[in-house]
Amino acid sequence: MPGGAGTFPVYDPATGDVLVEIADATPEDGIRALDAAVAAQAEWAATPPRKRSDILRRAFDLLQERADEFALLMTLEMGKPLAEARGEVTYGGEFLRWFSEEAVRIAGRYGSNPEGTGRMLISQLPVGPCFFITPWNFPLAMATRKIAPALAAGCTVVVKPAELTPLTTLAFVQLLEDAGLPAGVVNVITTTHSQSVSAPIIADPRLRKLSFTGSTPVGKKLIAQAAEGVLRVSMELGGNAPFVVFDDADLDKAVDGAMAAKFRNIGQACTAANRFIVHEAVAEDFAARIAERVKSMKVGRGTEDGVQIGPLIDEKAVSNTTALVDDAVERGASVLAGGAAIEGPGTFFEPTVISGVAPGSDILSQEIFAPVLAIATFADEDEAVRLANDTEYGLVSYVFTEGLERGLRMVERLETGMMGLNVGVVSNAAAPFGGVKQSGVGREGGLEGIHEYLSTKYTLIPAS
Ligand code: NAD
Repeated sequence: MPGGAGTFPVYDPATGDVLVEIADATPEDGIRALDAAVAAQAEWAATPPRKRSDILRRAFDLLQERADEFALLMTLEMGKPLAEARGEVTYGGEFLRWFSEEAVRIAGRYGSNPEGTGRMLISQLPVGPCFFITPWNFPLAMATRKIAPALAAGCTVVVKPAELTPLTTLAFVQLLEDAGLPAGVVNVITTTHSQSVSAPIIADPRLRKLSFTGSTPVGKKLIAQAAEGVLRVSMELGGNAPFVVFDDADLDKAVDGAMAAKFRNIGQACTAANRFIVHEAVAEDFAARIAERVKSMKVGRGTEDGVQIGPLIDEKAVSNTTALVDDAVERGASVLAGGAAIEGPGTFFEPTVISGVAPGSDILSQEIFAPVLAIATFADEDEAVRLANDTEYGLVSYVFTEGLERGLRMVERLETGMMGLNVGVVSNAAAPFGGVKQSGVGREGGLEGIHEYLSTKYTLIPAS
């Protein structure tokens, strides 16, 4: 990368080894990437939707051909088990296919005004050059979930992946080029100086949109920076998902759902169930069944056969997790499985179950982001709702009940942007993903996803 300030290492969290050194971009490199996106914007917006669609579809096909390479790359730089990395290739790829289909369905409206004196033309136009900042936990899907709808809508892009997992984005941008995407339409910058490289891009009056996936504290800072230029923003921020198990739940379903909602991605998902809120009549049975399953989980390097729990992303994650578990135990929780960090090499933490978590424990208010399942109890529905909503986050909730009326009441009463009713994983490219409260603004995927990259224009034409 011209003008770069040297290189930085990318590590394998399972071994601590350096995988490769890559370019460390400067603020000047960032602005050059924006220059390229701005230069390509008019032509890309004027490219026929069918052609934009075809490129996305070719990218989807190429990703299927290269699925094993992408899966391995993600396992190496992020640590997730290979089977889950393959799952992410499928999930991440679906955004390419879905938005290749949406690219040709961008519609407007035309009609008379109520007075009959004019024609109203409502059109949807590309927002313009976009800047994306993505996290390390889903290196492919967090990129495709933003890039695919932007390209479908006719927007150009600068993307800055997390410095911990930049390799997947670099490989994906190469794939887009191989699929026929013209130069300058998507530009990637890798840097260890996220703040100083991002700030000038966000402050640049040529930028039209900022989309961020990451933690709530960083999201708040970025919203403040974006306010200066009144930029459009999409924010996919942190979660603290409640997982509510009623006494009328099918416990087999609840246990399966809990394993998926908690331990997928080594517990490092914004949608990970964070607080298990279980009716006191079934809590002991539920906890015992979960503990039995968790004790038999295989921990190891994601590339090894049968591994279900890989390493956490770094040392800091291990020490945060230790502190959360220790705090809960000091306040009276019991450890039913695991409970401690595993000695290196690599940054591993035992899959853990703790029960009897007392109100006020840090683990109930903070995002755990580790394979630690924490169980608290409730006595009646109102208490369950109060506990579930007792957080500034509102991304997703999980509810297990066999009662239809109760399930529907929960849809209305739980303050989250998404809900799994008797299921532990909700993500789908055809569904609008996003949160309420401090979990963010905007939706990715679904029919809604492309509208994050379109602006509505109203034109009045007098009736003749
Ligand atoms: P993070 O906020 O630390 O970093 C996210 C990205 O922001 C990275 O690319 C990082 O380099 C960059 N960054 C950090 N500080 C910055 C700054 N001051 N200016 C500009 N860029 C900056 O988050 P993370 O640890 O990478 O990811 C985990 C978080 O992401 C969790 O809170 C998780 O819930 C959230 N997440 C949310 C979703 C969602 O869709 N809601 C999806 C995945 C992850």
